[in-house]
Amino acid sequence: MNTLRVDVLAYDMPCRQCALPLWWVFALLPSHRPRGDEFTTTDFPEAVEMARRILADPSGDTADMAAQLRPRPAWQQGRGFNPNTCGRCGHQAEWHVLDDVMHDAFHEGCIRAAEGRIPIGEWRAIRGRGQGIFWPFL
Ligand SMILES: [Zn+2]
Repeated sequence: MNTLRVDVLAYDMPCRQCALPLWWVFALLPSHRPRGDEFTTTDFPEAVEMARRILADPSGDTADMAAQLRPRPAWQQGRGFNPNTCGRCGHQAEWHVLDDVMHDAFHEGCIRAAEGRIPIGEWRAIRGRGQGIFWPFL
């Protein structure tokens, strides 16, 4: 099976409710020679599931980040949602907070939290989805 390496991008911002420092998972991107239009935001279920799978890989140290990604809460309406929850108070912010995270990550820089091998067909099914943002590489 053909696979490619996909990065999980994260940004450091405190919990809006209890101020605990959190790594907010906000996007997926191929590890090698990514194109801007492949930027895939983690605000829809398939992307959240892929990010969770990569972060939970036992060879890494990001299981905590995987555990903090949750499905869309029942009260959250609309097309996208924020999957990140606080490890201390459990707060799951609204989708527009994830937009703020992306904005700040673009200007301040972000980390590659983890990378994992994904079947190419799975990646093609979701790449560029979510917010549909073209990620301008710095
Ligand atoms: Zn909190």
